Amino acid sequence: MDLLFLLFSQIIALPEQPDIQLEIIGQASANPNWAFFAPHENENVTNHYVISQVQDKGGVFVILRQHGERLIRLKIDPFTVKIDPNRIYTEAGRRKNIIKLNPSLRENTYVFHRAMLRSASLAKLILNALGGKDKSRIWVAIHNNTQGYRGDDKQGIGDISIDLYHQKLAAGATFLIAASEPKLDEDDLFFVTQQDDYDVIQRDGWNVVLQHPQVVNKASEDDGSLSVFAQKKGIRYINIEAERSTANFGTNHLQSQSQMVDYVFEHLLQPSGQQTTAQ
Ligand SMILES: [Zn+2]
Repeated sequence: MDLLFLLFSQIIALPEQPDIQLEIIGQASANPNWAFFAPHENENVTNHYVISQVQDKGGVFVILRQHGERLIRLKIDPFTVKIDPNRIYTEAGRRKNIIKLNPSLRENTYVFHRAMLRSASLAKLILNALGGKDKSRIWVAIHNNTQGYRGDDKQGIGDISIDLYHQKLAAGATFLIAASEPKLDEDDLFFVTQQDDYDVIQRDGWNVVLQHPQVVNKASEDDGSLSVFAQKKGIRYINIEAERSTANFGTNHLQSQSQMVDYVFEHLLQPSGQQTTAQ
């Protein structure tokens, strides 16, 4: 009975706006120390698989929910302020994000101030559900992207692809330090913050990119994303990205992304205390 209760999912609502909710499967703990997180509700290709794996192997899986869309809508009467829930983990990121997504909202207003506070409150709720920000934690983000990329001459859309990351590196992007040679579908890739993880994943034949550690010091690279925040806090972060279909374009890479989840469990996640560096 106790075990069944522990495996059951719970819903935690943001007190200031209860239609913004976290679905929490399992629970954060020191051992096992991994926490999976799906911030974009429309990027859910492999969620059922992750749920089954967390129920089997432990740890926690947190899914942010509101209206099934990528962006969260903050209701601050009489306005609705849009935010990207993967751009709220630093003060600078929250500010840039609100300005970018709400061009008609002026900065020195009550509504803007309330939106900043509520974004910070949501970030705190999420970080608590992920077990806090001690350095022994491993965060595994689950995302989906669209086929190809904008401007790829194949009608691609979006801005995530191992091919595009190579172009960005060649063009002098400062948020990345390395990208593996493309070996699989360009849209199925790992995005990591630690060199050891990059080395192992690359060696094992997956697409992988490594965030540049200088994002910690460059104000221009502080976008408030969980990967930048993780780098600032010294927390190991692994993002599992795979293609999803949008408007009958592209396909859901469920099998590929589930294999990536399996790979992370088998080769990268170690119970706390048994962790080795590169394996
Ligand atoms: Zn996403």
